Amino acid sequence: MNADQHTPVALCRTCGEPVNERDRFCEECGRPDPTTPRTPPLGTALPHASPTPASRAAPFAPNPVPRQREQPPSAPQADPGEGTAAGGACVDCGVGAVGADGYCEQCGLRQPSGREHVEAEAGRSGAAVSDLGLRRSRNEDAFALAELPAGVCAVVCDGVATAPGSEEASRLAAEAALAVLTGRVPAGADPRGAMRDAAARAGEVVAGLPGDPDSSPACTFVSAVVDAGGITVGWVGDSRAYWLSPAGSCRLTTDDSWASSMIEQGAMSAEEAWADRRAHVLTAWLGADAGPLDPHVAAFRPTGPGLVVLCSDGLWNDLPEPSDLAAVALTGRDGPLDAARRLVRAALDAGGHDNVTVAVLRYPPPGPSRERGR
Ligand SMILES: [Zn+2]
Ligand SMILES: [Zn+2]
Repeated sequence: MNADQHTPVALCRTCGEPVNERDRFCEECGRPDPTTPRTPPLGTALPHASPTPASRAAPFAPNPVPRQREQPPSAPQADPGEGTAAGGACVDCGVGAVGADGYCEQCGLRQPSGREHVEAEAGRSGAAVSDLGLRRSRNEDAFALAELPAGVCAVVCDGVATAPGSEEASRLAAEAALAVLTGRVPAGADPRGAMRDAAARAGEVVAGLPGDPDSSPACTFVSAVVDAGGITVGWVGDSRAYWLSPAGSCRLTTDDSWASSMIEQGAMSAEEAWADRRAHVLTAWLGADAGPLDPHVAAFRPTGPGLVVLCSDGLWNDLPEPSDLAAVALTGRDGPLDAARRLVRAALDAGGHDNVTVAVLRYPPPGPSRERGR
């Protein structure tokens, strides 16, 4: 990409944010053809799914052939919408009907999906926050979390931006994995086995979604079960888990990504690898074109209290170091929801280039009746 490609030369006619004349979409509000007059000829469907994805497969790909899951921050979003407002009237013009693709048939504005900002708590044991960010027109991240009789579990999935349907993929994957964990762990299953089954189930669900052979819906996966016995983490892709504690913090996962594989092989320094445009290309993911699924599973037993953080790359891109995250999450004596909100806020303050999703789980999980306020 060169600099002039990203110089704003016009303003979006819907939200007034600067856009490039060649942009097919407004990055701020998602409006197609943001600089053209807003009322199309009646009965004419506006194009909203046609820009060529920046690059789906890397030209110099390591094995297995990965996909490019990360679009440049200013690239248009090319996938059709989820259309949760389908059937109603446009939130903006109030006149147009909203099509099944989630766009107003009159003015072309993409309607809110309900996923722009989502928060949830699992008792006092955990919480999660997901946010659209400042540059994307849709939130393709998703989370699911639940209290267990003796702990808490959570799942974070990040939809692959270049694959249509990935918004749905991440949501269904998170829900499917959580259902396995909440069914099997309380029944006495080994959390590591349950985690493997949860990832496999999530993979099946995503692989079963409709899609064309060149762009199947896809997402990453990271999950944790936290109970008195310790922490069990499972992952596929580049969403991460961290352990944050006053006594020391660390990353619990390794990315399935081009950069990670280059660094691991000793082919490049971390600095070189991360500066490469292929850095974020995934080497594993959930999806019909992902090949056999082999989720990573790892278990830890901390020696003191702390927080497990699960996150999409919208957080770690800006705050990669465990100490960065600890400095934000461990201030204050508040609960997991406040910590998750602070982490999301830190990502937004750093530019909010991507969707950002954070789940925060306490270790050891607080008992059902004691420890209020720690
Ligand atoms: Zn706009
Ligand atoms: Zn409208």
